[in-house]
Amino acid sequence: MDTRTSGPSASPPESRVFPTIGPDLFATLRASHPTRIVLQVPAGLVRNAHELAERIRAEVGTHVVMATRPCFGACDFPTRGEAPTADLAVVLGHAPIPNVPLDRPTYFVEMREPAGDPEALAGTVERGGLPKRLGLVASVQHLDLVAPFVAALERRSFTVRIGTGDRRLAYPAQALGCNYTGAEAIAADVEAYLFLGTGRFHPIGLAFAVDRPVWSLDPLRNELELPIDRAELVGRRLLAVASARDAHRWGILVSTFAGQYRLATARALEERARARGRDAELLFFDRLDPRDLEGRAFDAYVNTACPRIALDDGANYPRPVLTPPEFLMALGELPLEPYRFDTYH
Ligand code: SF4
Repeated sequence: MDTRTSGPSASPPESRVFPTIGPDLFATLRASHPTRIVLQVPAGLVRNAHELAERIRAEVGTHVVMATRPCFGACDFPTRGEAPTADLAVVLGHAPIPNVPLDRPTYFVEMREPAGDPEALAGTVERGGLPKRLGLVASVQHLDLVAPFVAALERRSFTVRIGTGDRRLAYPAQALGCNYTGAEAIAADVEAYLFLGTGRFHPIGLAFAVDRPVWSLDPLRNELELPIDRAELVGRRLLAVASARDAHRWGILVSTFAGQYRLATARALEERARARGRDAELLFFDRLDPRDLEGRAFDAYVNTACPRIALDDGANYPRPVLTPPEFLMALGELPLEPYRFDTYH
């Protein structure tokens, strides 16, 4: 049990969702009468963050402070320690994660982007020669395009499935870098996946999670990208597992961010390590920086925080950093195949 949450009789802090920054958000903020708002923006929007803060300040007539730590998801919203005097948080660019406890009222502005021509996009998919049975996954910004896009694909004789994930996902079809359970739920019915969104972050995560070709389509540029080379991705991780197989002293990484905190998992891994005759220590942090692990006498690490730290940034660390399933592979408790993505439930 997460002891940082309020007692059973207290109602949880309010969570509200807005598609964009606009009149609805401002009216709701005014009605909430906050004395101080902490504003958190994702990396892609930091350049204009001060203008957004100024706009909220002018529209709502209250103090606004900015959280400057880089944020990567709705799992690491500003902590009480970072903005102790704010009584409301506005988090831009992320959908809420339903099973993450909030420590103050938090308004999520998902920055929905409805643009994109469904017919033109479906035409691109058809010309690209994708298999006819597709699973569709989208970043939260492009979820409004999913229904018309699916209709356009079906007019071209595609069969499109959309999965509903577990309690970490707010919407059907939604991609979250640590949880593709919606996509996994429809794996038996599809020949390939199509990711609707920009960048490589989600296509790479999906390729780890599902053993099917993952195509991606940028809905604004109408550009189709060929599937990720899953064998290469997995091969690289199996090399990391092999390099840690003989590690004796393990550091078990635990983040204190509300949506990355897996203490029970960390303790279970510590037990497995000791049962196999290895040393293991739990190391706590909020945001992990590779420099924090320099000079430490550990042979390898297993990371219970954001799984993408190991998968995307593992090469930046001084010793191998494995995900929990990879750690069990290194101990010989899980087979190397099939590769298991570290789904954060
Ligand atoms: S744990 Fe990682 S992938 Fe999941 S929401 Fe947080 S930053 Fe994104």
